Amino acid sequence: MGRVYNFSAGPAVLPEEVLREAAADMMDYKGCGMSVMEMSHRSKMFQNIIDEAEADIRKLMNIPDNYKVLFLQGGASLQFAMIPMNLMKNHKADYIVTGQWAKKAYQEAKKYGDVVAVASSADKTFSYIPDCSDLPIREDADYVYICENNTIYGTKFHTLPNTKGKTLVSDVSSCFLSEPIDVTKYGIVYGGVQKNVGPAGLVIAIVREDLIPETVDDSVPTMMQYKIHAENGSMYNTPNCWSIYICGLVFKWLLKNGGLEAMKAKNEAKAKILYDFLDNSKLFRGTVEPGSRSLMNVPFVTGNEELDAKFVKEAKAAGLENLKGHRTVGGMRASIYNAMPVEGVQALVDFMKKFEEENA
Ligand SMILES: *Cc1c(COP(=O)(O)O)cnc(C)c1O
Repeated sequence: MGRVYNFSAGPAVLPEEVLREAAADMMDYKGCGMSVMEMSHRSKMFQNIIDEAEADIRKLMNIPDNYKVLFLQGGASLQFAMIPMNLMKNHKADYIVTGQWAKKAYQEAKKYGDVVAVASSADKTFSYIPDCSDLPIREDADYVYICENNTIYGTKFHTLPNTKGKTLVSDVSSCFLSEPIDVTKYGIVYGGVQKNVGPAGLVIAIVREDLIPETVDDSVPTMMQYKIHAENGSMYNTPNCWSIYICGLVFKWLLKNGGLEAMKAKNEAKAKILYDFLDNSKLFRGTVEPGSRSLMNVPFVTGNEELDAKFVKEAKAAGLENLKGHRTVGGMRASIYNAMPVEGVQALVDFMKKFEEENA
């Protein structure tokens, strides 16, 4: 069986070119007689891999010199704790709750201080991004937290919140490297890589240097201190070598294909095909307010659970996989990350048209 069009929310589709390159390198990486999985993280060979990966992501995202790029473990979820542990000086933080991942981060932060949800879209099942132009941000809040692209609900901040001068911390897991961003607007911008960049288990945290505390509370584990990882070039302990290597290949693939401007244009074109169809369909409809739509995760429903299940099943048989919506939302969700070709989105829409005719 050949490859399918994989609409999984994560772990998710990776560029075929990258998979082929990794396969070719598997037995003998650059003449060293072993795979990247088998080599010492202290070897020159691996140091080159991580150095190049860092240089390439810096180039792609135009990351200023006063930001550290940290390759950490524990996925995005460990950052939910690491952020308050390192950033809370006044032990106060303000969170914008736009979905399950933001809510989990908010709940975790509550373990470490006085944490307030200054805005939420829970009232309409997280189907929109609230107006964040004038929120009651506290004078002494250590930071303001957002989840920029809500993987489960399919919403995205198209304008960053007005933090009233406070440090902005953003989880970009599911929109990582999908379009250019201005890193200087953030104190920390971070993402688990398994949505749009590489194999699961690695999180890349881009942290402004002045936010990395010299000292933290004695109770903070060594592995949870940004300072330790920053001082040790992300190699205080054995890093996730394999994921760093694959991410490095993906960065090179992105650079070769025009960088993030080109990726944004491609992602907009792909999303337009799907949203245009949904807006005109008699059977399917999108679940997100148009102004808050994500380019990466597109949830939709027929309004009939049985028909939804039939759709997911028949789509799978047609080579369109992982279209079932998140267990908390139901319906369908198509994740159309960087590595999903436009042909995959077109194939999905063609299938939806056919399904609509057959089930009218
Ligand atoms: C998937 C996801 C997470 C959780 O990532 P893990 O690596 O599994 O911890 C957090 N935030 C967002 C936005 C996600 O999409």
